[in-house]
Amino acid sequence: MNENITKRNELLAQKVIKGLTSRNMSGYYAKDKEEALEKALQLIEEGSSVTMGGAMSAHEIGLVEALKKGNYNFIDRDAYEDKRAAMLLAYDADVFLSSVNAMTEDGILINIDGNSNRVSAIAQGPKKVIFIVGMNKVCDDVDGAMKRARNVAAPINAQRFNINTPCKVTGSCMDCKSPDTICCQFLMTRYSKHPGRIHVILVNDNLGF
Ligand code: SF4
Repeated sequence: MNENITKRNELLAQKVIKGLTSRNMSGYYAKDKEEALEKALQLIEEGSSVTMGGAMSAHEIGLVEALKKGNYNFIDRDAYEDKRAAMLLAYDADVFLSSVNAMTEDGILINIDGNSNRVSAIAQGPKKVIFIVGMNKVCDDVDGAMKRARNVAAPINAQRFNINTPCKVTGSCMDCKSPDTICCQFLMTRYSKHPGRIHVILVNDNLGF
């Protein structure tokens, strides 16, 4: 990462971490993917049951591979034929991994979901939720974060899942009510009732989309 971008990201991350702390959530800054992996593994006790909700960023820092190889009970929902059973196991997991579609400089997390298993597990269930967040996802405010989630993250996911939505054709949100829409639920996490439950690792890199 360019040193000027790194300097800016370090400074901005301190503001984000302060915002997260004020919301009863914990924030950490990682100077690169390797440091992010190290921090994530510090937060996950050996023997823990761990699952995830489509977190590309966790793959990108090597966390999923490390968990599969290590002494953890990694619940791989792709390996389950019964997806509902996998989702129910996720609610009772020790650790849930995710990223965000966007977040604000003052620590509000924004996530959009179609099936809604991801946003429901973020809101309630798993004992600990760890977000891996590239600094590319930090936006000025809630309005900016919602725009990013709907006009960047969701249309790219529409391409990824090859679904039939207007944004797959136009590249930006058309506020559809298509049966294929991936924008069924919008979760804004602005405070955590449970101390020590939500952890956000901010990574000095572009992760996910
Ligand atoms: S509401 Fe529809 S068009 Fe807009 S991002 Fe979601 S799926 Fe795409």
